[in-house]
Amino acid sequence: MSILVTKSSIPPFEEFIEEIAPLWDTRWITNMNVKHQELEQQLISFMEIENISLFTNGHLALESLLKALGLEGEVITTPFTFVSTTHAIVNAGLTPVFCDIDPLTYTIDVHSIESLITDKTCAILAVHVYGNVCDVEALEYIGKKYDIKILYDAAHAFGVSYKGKGIGSYGDASMFSFHATKVFNTIEGGAIATHDEHLKEILEKIKNFGINGPEDTVLVGINAKMNEFQASMGICNLRHIDEYITKRQRVVETYNSFLSSINGIKLQPDQKNVVSNYGYYPIVIDGFYKEREEIVKQLNEKDIFPRKYFYPLTSEMSCYKQKYSSGKTPVALSISEKILCLPLYPDLHYEEVEKICGIILES
Ligand SMILES: *Cc1c(COP(=O)(O)O)cnc(C)c1O
Repeated sequence: MSILVTKSSIPPFEEFIEEIAPLWDTRWITNMNVKHQELEQQLISFMEIENISLFTNGHLALESLLKALGLEGEVITTPFTFVSTTHAIVNAGLTPVFCDIDPLTYTIDVHSIESLITDKTCAILAVHVYGNVCDVEALEYIGKKYDIKILYDAAHAFGVSYKGKGIGSYGDASMFSFHATKVFNTIEGGAIATHDEHLKEILEKIKNFGINGPEDTVLVGINAKMNEFQASMGICNLRHIDEYITKRQRVVETYNSFLSSINGIKLQPDQKNVVSNYGYYPIVIDGFYKEREEIVKQLNEKDIFPRKYFYPLTSEMSCYKQKYSSGKTPVALSISEKILCLPLYPDLHYEEVEKICGIILES
């Protein structure tokens, strides 16, 4: 069987059936009913955050967040991410301004931000890419100094904590994705975590057409509600999340045992004060005796499919490349040309990791 870069975590079949069975009695299968409410409460506690607003996917959560804040102008962000981050900014009527990344963590380079700030800058949208934590302290300082919002694309960072606090408690708000490929999934799904109760109330309206009670609509919203089946999947997966993360950690440690002292292969840094979710296993192939393309080809021949996340940069995609120059983010450009995400999911076996590393290392 093929080994893909990831495999969705799902609970035992019977457990899910038991969770959804009551929906056949209530016939209330969407519009924020009991499963939705239950998942919200469980997530607030698990993620150590104050408020959460659930969405049908992470992308619409992010777009809704940018709209809810009433932002106008430029948003400083990075091109080393999934296109969703950049699309959300553009779809919200804002202009992305690309900042380079830190060569060790691949998160926004806080030393390059201030030179990009103009009188049009309204926010920074930083990405906790691969679950690596951005320099949240420096970002908070910049946010206060210039009176701009600090927002996080935390799509990769479910279950991550920093200095003993849930990662979603930093900044003005954070978007999480619960897509099937992420560490925690609700099939498709997403959320905004924020300490701002007023923002949460606006998000609740936006995701439900802007409706406020049966006879009035107070803002021009969309439909981005999480349904009861998605929430049920979330409730089941959350019961197993510790087990998923522990198993991922074991896979990461196995990879490390094979790859940690190889010339020309650079691994993720161990970040201080961070509890990881072991979401991704990116390697940077730089000065190794084989090129990235050759490794990909050799793995593909054995039915193993790593992914070049994130290559190309979002600023290199056809829909953006006329407008942006990737030469302005040289570190991001260079990393994107050398990065490779190896397969990683909870039940990837020791022997499979051994095989993958064997192929990478063989001459
Ligand atoms: C997955 C992802 C998203 C979008 O989330 P969806 O739930 O798939 O809509 C946004 N940003 C990043 C970095 C992602 O990986």
